[in-house]
Amino acid sequence: MAKTIGIDLGTTNSCVSVIEGGRPVIIPNDKGARTTPSIVAFTKDGDRIVGEAAQRQAVVNSQRTISSVKRSMGTNWNVNIDNTKYTAPEISAMILRKLRQDAENYLGETITDAVITVPAYFNDAQRQATKDAGRIAGLNVKRIINEPTSAALAYGLDHGEPQKIMVFDLGGGTFDVSIIEIGDGVIEVLATSGDNHLGGDDFDERIAEYLCGYIEFKHGIDVRKDLSAMQRIKEASEQAKKDLSAAETANISLPYLMQGKTDMVHFETVLTRAKFDELTRDLVERTAGPVMTALNDAGLAPSELQKVLLVGGSTRMPSVQEKVFALTGIEPSKDINPDECVAQGAAIQADTLSGTGTGLLLLDVIPLSLCIETAGGVATKVVERNTTLPVRYSQVFTTASMFQKSVRIHVVQGERPMAKDNKTIGRFNMKGIKKPAKGIPQIEVTFDVDTNGILKISAKDLTTGKEQSITVTDTDKMSDAEVEQAIRNAELYAAHDRMRQEAMELPSIGKLAANEAETAMKKVEDQLTKEEIQLIKKYVLELRVLCKQAKPDKMTAEEVGIFKEHIDRAMNASANARKLAKEIAEEEATTEETKSLDE
Ligand code: AMP
Repeated sequence: MAKTIGIDLGTTNSCVSVIEGGRPVIIPNDKGARTTPSIVAFTKDGDRIVGEAAQRQAVVNSQRTISSVKRSMGTNWNVNIDNTKYTAPEISAMILRKLRQDAENYLGETITDAVITVPAYFNDAQRQATKDAGRIAGLNVKRIINEPTSAALAYGLDHGEPQKIMVFDLGGGTFDVSIIEIGDGVIEVLATSGDNHLGGDDFDERIAEYLCGYIEFKHGIDVRKDLSAMQRIKEASEQAKKDLSAAETANISLPYLMQGKTDMVHFETVLTRAKFDELTRDLVERTAGPVMTALNDAGLAPSELQKVLLVGGSTRMPSVQEKVFALTGIEPSKDINPDECVAQGAAIQADTLSGTGTGLLLLDVIPLSLCIETAGGVATKVVERNTTLPVRYSQVFTTASMFQKSVRIHVVQGERPMAKDNKTIGRFNMKGIKKPAKGIPQIEVTFDVDTNGILKISAKDLTTGKEQSITVTDTDKMSDAEVEQAIRNAELYAAHDRMRQEAMELPSIGKLAANEAETAMKKVEDQLTKEEIQLIKKYVLELRVLCKQAKPDKMTAEEVGIFKEHIDRAMNASANARKLAKEIAEEEATTEETKSLDE
């Protein structure tokens, strides 16, 4: 069976993992690196490059290099390169395609299935954009899961005690804090907070600024004006920062950096961790606010947390780890590489989804509303779109006509108001209804969707207690493509659907209007001319014929318009008749009053 890969599609770096021998392993890229920069570049020769190669040329080709595209997912952002517009999912797809290629090279097989992670705060549009990116890259995205949840899976916390944990994720450009609750068979994100513009890049920049200032002071030259020298300073700064996570000092050596006033400048210095901490103290301090906000939003004190997981390469900095301890009083777990654990969790979930793994199957949401068809072909929503699984909803329905001894339960999925425009996912007949007078029987329909997305529909006659049910499995439901098509159709056909809904209501409104006109006319018949009476009778008759012959599910917009005109005519006639009746009544009252005065 083809493997399903887990992908951490990060803002700065991405990572791919797969289960081998029951454990998640990280798939190295073609350069042997375990993470790949999420950077895409378009060269002047028309080539597209992704990853380290794109990162290396970024400074000298900044107009045609795209980084941090993840920030634009779910927005209208696009970039114009050589007169071709690329959207955020299209750029992300280029990164995904490279990751997929690396995985195929490593595994020696074609890969089509993947689980992709997204920040917990990503909304529907951002998640959908991520799915779209996967599809553009030729991947079947089996599930989108939250990054902090994925980290918890990597730590195997789904097999342990129920607990509340904090995931502290400081990456290259973003900072996310999530409080999650791991319960019996459920992982729930309780709160999220963060800073979209705080990450390892800011720490690199502080070192780079410091070095530029130092070079200026020592050699009297402004290195900021030389793009390739600046690129080397940036790379050296990041390397020094990483070195300082393991050592107290870092050597920075930049021979032949740039031409000085007289000679070539060969720059060399030693950066201490103490100096680095001093340069970046305020950045570390900025993590405190979001941590407090997330805890507050979850209604938890730090002491109620059982664990803190570190995610993101920047949590390797000792000053950051110390800050986490100071804020929570908990020694953070760092057994798994912080830049790899999200991808590992995705691989674990991928394995569970493909039926091989034994982990917890994560919660999903209902992508489209679940409805049942009620009188007139209307799709009545029982479970709204985007409700989190598992879910159980009941609604009581009754019969539509006299002597109805059975009810047809037709279950559809979709957002369109008429059942026939949605997808049928199940139907059954409930027979043997007692007391079949119209509107008397009470049929309780229950939708039960478990964490695996398996839907059980049951109908119970509340009078007799008789129950019947069917089970709809995931495969009976809609594919992603069908879901997307259904959502597009719902938007596309919104006007048409409004017209159809209106058409469905016309016969009953028409009947009411005809009865009303007839009754109103009878009250003032003596005051009307023969012609007036005949005209109203004609309106009423024509309207009744229309009501009888109407086929609301087939009516055109024009026919709906004609029907409405007939209803308006009858309503105007009854309004006029009522007005006349009122005038007569007022006249009579005045006459009576006058009479009593006389007495
Ligand atoms: P991520 O987006 O999680 O891959 O994190 C990338 C960020 O982590 C970059 O800013 C890296 O410079 C930073 N990073 C990676 N390794 C280390 C390390 N050993 N010490 C400090 N920062 C690191």
